[in-house]
Amino acid sequence: MEVAAVEGLMQDYELSLQHVLWRIERLHQKREVVTKRDEGIHRITYGEMVPRINRLAGALKQLGVKPGDRVATLAWNNSRHLELYYAVPCMGAVLHTLNLRLFPQHLEFIINDAEDKVLFVDQSLLPLLKPLVGKIPTIKTMVLMTDGAAAPLSGKENGLADMLEYEALIAAQSTDYPWPKLSERMAAAMCYTSGTTGNPKGVVYSHRSQFIHTMGVLQGDNLGLTENDALLPVVPMFHANSWGLPYAAGMAGSKMVFPGRFSADAKSIVELAEQENVTFLAGVPTVWLVLANYLKESGKRLPKVRTVVCGGSAVPRTLMETMDSIGLRILHAWGMTETSPLGSVARVAAGAKPEDELKLRLTQGRVAPGVEIRISDPTSGEELPWDGVAFGEIQVRGPWIARGYHNGYDPGKLTEDGWFRTGDVARIDPDGYIQIVDRTKDVIKSGGEWISSVELENAVMAHPKIMEAAVIGLPHVKWDERPVVYAVAKPEFKGQVTEAEVIDFLRDKVAKWWLPDEVRFIDEVPKTSVGKFDKKLLRANAVPIKEGATEPARK
Ligand code: ADP
Repeated sequence: MEVAAVEGLMQDYELSLQHVLWRIERLHQKREVVTKRDEGIHRITYGEMVPRINRLAGALKQLGVKPGDRVATLAWNNSRHLELYYAVPCMGAVLHTLNLRLFPQHLEFIINDAEDKVLFVDQSLLPLLKPLVGKIPTIKTMVLMTDGAAAPLSGKENGLADMLEYEALIAAQSTDYPWPKLSERMAAAMCYTSGTTGNPKGVVYSHRSQFIHTMGVLQGDNLGLTENDALLPVVPMFHANSWGLPYAAGMAGSKMVFPGRFSADAKSIVELAEQENVTFLAGVPTVWLVLANYLKESGKRLPKVRTVVCGGSAVPRTLMETMDSIGLRILHAWGMTETSPLGSVARVAAGAKPEDELKLRLTQGRVAPGVEIRISDPTSGEELPWDGVAFGEIQVRGPWIARGYHNGYDPGKLTEDGWFRTGDVARIDPDGYIQIVDRTKDVIKSGGEWISSVELENAVMAHPKIMEAAVIGLPHVKWDERPVVYAVAKPEFKGQVTEAEVIDFLRDKVAKWWLPDEVRFIDEVPKTSVGKFDKKLLRANAVPIKEGATEPARK
């Protein structure tokens, strides 16, 4: 018998970021947005910000920005950037946050690929645009955001575009703006992947995906940001929308504390966190490594911070232990630009044995509600069991997962049945905890087997004299590839740690055939624009493995 479909009687409410704007205006107007600027601390409330957002939308319209047009930002984490986060998508245009650490040719590529029309730039970042003169023709207008005295407005003589000044631009507009009715499927924002393993590709978020992702981020078992929190995102606003935290903070009503251009300075972060009663921090492991060292040396502590979200690359065990020992609790999360970025969070489920707690917090956690995950065999494509042993490529699907890239790059990223191939290789245990083994491009293929560069790095970084270590696979005549360690000694042990010592240390920690062929000491591991180990660069500059270098069996 055929069952007649009956429609639900709920409203077709379009999910859009205008809802978040509505909340900051009506419910969170007293909450502060604080920015560290060159001349001191800048404060504004959401209530004061809303008329500015309206003016900004008016200005964009006057500049000829139409629905769907891309509006780029080249800016630090600051309050004007947040105003753009609201005004641009809520007026129907697409916010394109440019990664300020990209090489000029990458910036040129993505500005042209996105066909950005207007560019908002922090004055301190203006020099980054010099090499782009004459190369970004789609940008018709540039808007300079200055903190101090009015900027020198060089107009067309800079060779880039007409240059306006942010405050003057918005001052000329009305504090009311008739926000248009938006469809939830419209594009709201664009972020490019940071190109860790290839060329940057444009990920285009919709209003609907951003809305649902915001609700997802706020769940207690996900990041669990609340109205009572004061959030300091060290993760840049150009890196997967600062992990969706600005909208989550707006939805919840959390106070926002922005480090401005001082995000790489541990002392500034600590001072700001102390002064502004910050409870919630977010950033990549390299940031916390520096912060932990600063706290240990200075003896300072941040007792009000309840959560330090850490993702972007695997959290080394030593980092989590060090942070625990100084009272900062890391919440490990996994995701990528294409997953908005929240994919999974390592919360320890009820019933776990206390002795397993650290181990579970060090996994990439369990998939976030709203997202489905599976692991699949790289050659056959078959789905693999969640037995904690089999490993394969992570594939995901859900309402905030990309289904393609801007301009149709890399169509093969979606499987035939519609799952997104992440390029990350993992095991999943029967309780659903994900353990990332590697990225498909970084995993070391040795003698037909795989060596996890990530696990090897973690084992090396546990050595008491080592500060950081990256492992890459280099070509080997017999084994196809063999692991080579690039290690940085802790400053006090510089020149005092040997290859043999590191290899001996690993002997009872990894399988014999995982032992690296060489340990090369360097001053610093090169980092990508978002603070990850730049293995692509290491590989490109690596000298070949020494002729006759130790083979694992001979060690
Ligand atoms: P890019 O791909 O250019 O590095 P993303 O910031 O989108 O830019 O990086 C996403 C990737 O970062 C993931 O696919 C994964 O390899 C890595 N990653 C993110 N979070 C974690 C984590 N918690 N543990 C291990 N790897 C992670």
